[in-house]
Amino acid sequence: MKILKKFILILGLCSTGVSAEESRWWKGNLHTHSLWSDGDDYPEMIADWYRENGYNFLGISDHNILAEGDRWIHAEKNAGGRLAFEKYLKKFGSDWVEHKTEKNIPKVRLKNFSEYEAKMSIEGKFLLMQAEELTDQFQGVPIHLNATNLKNYIPPQGGSSLSSVLQNNVNAVMDQRKKTGQLMFPHINHPNFGWALKPTDMIKLKGEQFFEVYNGHPAVNNYGDAKHLSTVQIWDIINSYRVGIHKLPLMFGLATDDAHNYHQIAVGKSNTGRGWVMVKAPALSPSSIIKAMERGDFYSSSGVSISSIKTSGTAFSFKISAEKGVTYTTWFVGTRKGFKSSKDLAKRNSLNPSEAGIGEILSQTTSIEPNYIFKGDELYVRAHVVSSKKKANPYSLGEQEQAWLQPVSPRE
Ligand SMILES: [Zn+2]
Ligand SMILES: [Zn+2]
Repeated sequence: MKILKKFILILGLCSTGVSAEESRWWKGNLHTHSLWSDGDDYPEMIADWYRENGYNFLGISDHNILAEGDRWIHAEKNAGGRLAFEKYLKKFGSDWVEHKTEKNIPKVRLKNFSEYEAKMSIEGKFLLMQAEELTDQFQGVPIHLNATNLKNYIPPQGGSSLSSVLQNNVNAVMDQRKKTGQLMFPHINHPNFGWALKPTDMIKLKGEQFFEVYNGHPAVNNYGDAKHLSTVQIWDIINSYRVGIHKLPLMFGLATDDAHNYHQIAVGKSNTGRGWVMVKAPALSPSSIIKAMERGDFYSSSGVSISSIKTSGTAFSFKISAEKGVTYTTWFVGTRKGFKSSKDLAKRNSLNPSEAGIGEILSQTTSIEPNYIFKGDELYVRAHVVSSKKKANPYSLGEQEQAWLQPVSPRE
């Protein structure tokens, strides 16, 4: 008995690092579409893919709609067509699939969130959270925000500028959270989709802690171009100003799939399995996952696995779950207190943030146990791992597997 207790104690210490006693990693995707909007498959089919592919939680986030109410669609004239319907019927059978022919029109009923959640979730193994992609715009520029674990539908809120559209939608989610007492959070989707958002549109947002640093949809410009910042550069500018100038909390970076296409698997299609989050939490419940994410107890990945992360206030270290024959390069990236800040919005959006000391490479290593000792003058430090392994069915050709660890600030 004594030996067993000792063993459990050692296990606990090894696997959890600093604080949480019985936390473990949970894999999830918070951004995905179904036939409720412009995805090409049924919610249960999508949930089934994620459940069977090692995920522990999922939010199906359709554009400006929740999966509720009596919704019958044409069984063949939809994004998934006859093929999707046949696969659905084969997988779930006619006892579950509700379909009929009315005036020679084949129809199928889309299941509500409460129905597919009850059917597909498994306690402690697979969790479904209700979600919505609040799909807004400003003067034709797309502005999308996800709401995760919301209770009631939220229409897009509009606003008089890009940043006010963002803030109004964030506020709507946080107001519902306050009113209902249910934990939920907004996150900014694909900032470079349509080259919509600049750092200055996001720097001063209140109540927003998350944005997508990596989105698997092929049209979202994660890596920027000659005229536009990449999402990691945007991330560094946002956090430098948030922490260094405006005394706002850090913004965390999410990886998501934003999957729409479940039948044709190819580069150029928006498929499953491209980007996800790994959350270190004591339990698989909405509140446990959300609280952990709000603490920053997660990392984002497109393939690289991290076994443990330690942040002590004086050091930032972690362990990569290395695969045989694969090498890993880690960059610790951050901004120091004396960076060249500017009130000029154009300068804040500069294409060369590193000239202002924003997002400096503070150290680089090929160790699978990277370690960074804070100098003390960093506003924040984040870690980016790039593997030598090519990603299967990537967001863009030639992409290598990556992990994005959340920024941390040294203790004052
Ligand atoms: Zn979107
Ligand atoms: Zn989307």
